[in-house]
Amino acid sequence: HFIAEKKPMTRTITLPDVGNEPLIDWGNRQRDSFGKITHTIRAFRESKMGDAFFPLIAGRPIQTSGHIFQSANPANPAEIIGRMHMADDTTVDEAVSSVLKSDTIRGWAQMSLSRRAPYLRAVARELRKHRALLIALIMLEVGKSAPRADAEVCEAIDFLEHYAAYAEFLETIGDAMLFSPKGEENRILWKPSGGAMPILASIQPWNFPVAISVGPAAAALVTGHAVLYKPAEQSSVIGFFLTRMFYEAGIPPELFHFLPGTGETVGRALVAHPRVNAVAFTGSQVVRREIETSIRQWNENEWGLYAEGYAQKKGVALESGGKNAIIVFPDANLDRVIEDVSDSAFAFQGQMCSACSRLIVVCEAKTGGEKTYDEIVARLKERMESFSIGSPEDPKHQIGPLIDEAAMHKVNACMERAAREGTVLARGVPVPQNGGYYVSPMLVGDLSPQSETAQEEIFGPVLSVFKAKTYEEARRIANGTNFALTGGVHARNPEKIAQVMHDMDVGAFYANKRTIGAMVGRQPFGGFRESGNGTKAGGWTYLLPFLKEVSVSRNTMECGIPLG
Ligand code: NAD
Repeated sequence: HFIAEKKPMTRTITLPDVGNEPLIDWGNRQRDSFGKITHTIRAFRESKMGDAFFPLIAGRPIQTSGHIFQSANPANPAEIIGRMHMADDTTVDEAVSSVLKSDTIRGWAQMSLSRRAPYLRAVARELRKHRALLIALIMLEVGKSAPRADAEVCEAIDFLEHYAAYAEFLETIGDAMLFSPKGEENRILWKPSGGAMPILASIQPWNFPVAISVGPAAAALVTGHAVLYKPAEQSSVIGFFLTRMFYEAGIPPELFHFLPGTGETVGRALVAHPRVNAVAFTGSQVVRREIETSIRQWNENEWGLYAEGYAQKKGVALESGGKNAIIVFPDANLDRVIEDVSDSAFAFQGQMCSACSRLIVVCEAKTGGEKTYDEIVARLKERMESFSIGSPEDPKHQIGPLIDEAAMHKVNACMERAAREGTVLARGVPVPQNGGYYVSPMLVGDLSPQSETAQEEIFGPVLSVFKAKTYEEARRIANGTNFALTGGVHARNPEKIAQVMHDMDVGAFYANKRTIGAMVGRQPFGGFRESGNGTKAGGWTYLLPFLKEVSVSRNTMECGIPLG
């Protein structure tokens, strides 16, 4: 009967087409842009450099008993960008109380997705207004080149605008997909996943200090949460300025708190806090595992112990590293291969989760693969020796500094290990001896795929290259790590491309392209296994773990008035 009575329905759903924020056209139309950025850097040096910064609770600077972190310019560590007064456990408690004692969070949590969406667009406008400052800060505090810093700011703007559109879209599609026969109205009520007073801790890394801070915060806010934002220590000055932009854009201050601090104190306190209902984390594999364990323990043993029965906690987005591979077939366009592999491996000094760290050349005897391998190695060597290394403030440098002294020592140790485990096939030019945290890129071959060099994320400019006698062997090497983040193939034969696409266990796959530079709304980004819990930043499904889907059914005959 039910099926017989159902009327065929046609519904039109408009899909958001947001596009992407245009990058600065450095070489051509906007040739003067570099000058503008240099001017902004100079102005920052004259007015703010070395200032004291504080945690912000509901917009107010807070004095803390925590230590002062001197955030340094990695290209010139003597230059202190800011003296950050670090939050501590008490500051975390104060931030939580500030959320709970205001009425704002209850109203915010009950607002519809589409009513919150314009707030994100307002933040996007604010970021656009301060684009030059953000680029300058990224260059100064984490050592990124100007074009990459610009791409990052654009990505942040894209996150805001796309998540706003996805929120509206979810609201439309949630209802439109339901059947409501006469006398009954069915709807989806999207509630924040964190409950009635939802508080989300956002703990983020330094390598995308703007984009990866803004993305999870945008998703959390638009889905109705208050945000306790902890940037990485090394990029906390950027975090401070970003937070102020959220306030300037009109995000209610009670909903956004800036908690700079160490992972061991503030990070742990945030994850463990009983009133924090959700965690968005991006960072290393070790910390991701610790957070997962802490959340599991809370959910299994602790949440029901409180009189009010605090909510179960969710790890809405837990994303970590990669050990990404590109497979090259001998029929590939080698010009493209060299361009894409060297950019994927060495851009931002290899400090990207998506960076290619393993290159696998299929060397079947009949296809002349050995010759391809030798040619690729020779050309990569030439390319690496041509890189100029130095401060990102000089646009001629392709390789800048690593983030800090600890990273430099770690990567140098990994390079020594790589030289022991395999053969060094190429190095870049010697690094400048001016105190900056530089290392010269390395290409290493003759490694066992099981060696530590081939298995562990190095997070520096080290590329391992492997010869595989068959495609089968290449596939095994590619999938033979605990990670599953990005991967790619270079080949002309479409069947081979399709084969690798199906075989590679990754979250983002690229054919005849770089494996870095995923764009919001185009390549949703996130991995599996040790790389993450499968959430896709920059895609419409990203919002789903931040939400609870509640179906609401009303007897409209009884009430007489349909839901508005
Ligand atoms: P990290 O794990 O050291 O730190 C990340 C954040 O976690 C920082 O804010 C840090 O203070 C905090 N933290 C540290 N210990 C903590 C603890 N015990 N409890 C709670 N929080 C803690 O990582 P990082 O060095 O800042 O960033 C680099 C890592 O991030 C790399 O592994 C990289 O691959 C990964 N990453 C992944 C993605 C992705 O989308 N998958 C994107 C960028 C970076």
